[in-house]
Amino acid sequence: AKSRGPGHAVIFQEVMAENASRRYRIEKGLRRAVGEGELRLFLQGQYNAEGVAMGVEALVRWENPERGLLSPGAFIPVAEESDLIVLLGDWMLEQTCRLLVRPELVERRLQLSVNVSARQFLQTDFVAKLQALLAFTEADPSRLTLEVTEGLVLGDFDEAAHRMLQLREMGIQFALDDFGTGYSSMAYLKRLPIQELKIDQSFVRDMNKSQQTEALVEAILWVAHRFGLRVVAEGVETPAQAALLHAWEPKILCQGFLYDQPIPWQAWVARYVQQLQP
Ligand code: C2E
Ligand code: CA
Ligand code: CA
Ligand code: CA
Repeated sequence: AKSRGPGHAVIFQEVMAENASRRYRIEKGLRRAVGEGELRLFLQGQYNAEGVAMGVEALVRWENPERGLLSPGAFIPVAEESDLIVLLGDWMLEQTCRLLVRPELVERRLQLSVNVSARQFLQTDFVAKLQALLAFTEADPSRLTLEVTEGLVLGDFDEAAHRMLQLREMGIQFALDDFGTGYSSMAYLKRLPIQELKIDQSFVRDMNKSQQTEALVEAILWVAHRFGLRVVAEGVETPAQAALLHAWEPKILCQGFLYDQPIPWQAWVARYVQQLQP
């Protein structure tokens, strides 16, 4: 295509229309999915240097009757544009709390992390809902970690920070997800009540290839150490990456395909229990 004549505009309109109908299809399907029980909770472990899971992250999947098992990338962005993310997020929070009180897990001090979207977190009744859920399930709030991104505080910083403090007072922990990819992550460390940093997988991926990335990861680990924060590295795929991370920060937890893929929670719990048996 040499010219960007009228044809270009037509194609643009077609793409827009296609996107709109795709969005509509996903929205409608997802609304049904929540009601009909098509959402699934998957788990992926966070392992210490001895290979023991100290934490685990809950990740949503959608078992679509027509299209099979869908990853969040295929529907979360659409859900985030409406209240669907609240429905989905509430469902995940409830499942997470129920999981926390399962007898297999309650004895072991496994930390359970769940992703929370900005839109969900900023609902006026978010704190009250979560409080009710914890009371109802009798889950221990201190074993629940909410994974948030800096997008959470981009709108109304004071309100978001205030809520985080309220939840902190209930014992809930916070992890700053995708750390290092935003614009002001460092500044937020001192202004938000955060207990954990998650080093974004893009850093882990480039660590062994680029000296600059290596230096950045080292700097992040040093800052985390000085702030007394736990660190979880995402997307750890090779023994070399794990070795480097553990050499820098012996207490770091690693999450990634080197250890496990996200799998249905029942399967993950079964494996976890089995591994802990002497
Ligand atoms: P995230 O929170 O950064 O989650 C990590 C993602 O990296 C997951 O993708 C996980 O499967 C993937 N991953 C784990 N280990 C590796 C690895 O070694 N290599 C590579 N290349 N990838 C790895 P997933 O499950 O597709 O989730 C994508 C994103 O969707 C999440 O990114 C999170 O932002 C969002 N998400 C997932 N579940 C929920 C949810 O319940 N609520 C909300 N609001 N967002 C969610
Ligand atoms: Ca996450
Ligand atoms: Ca992440
Ligand atoms: Ca990510």
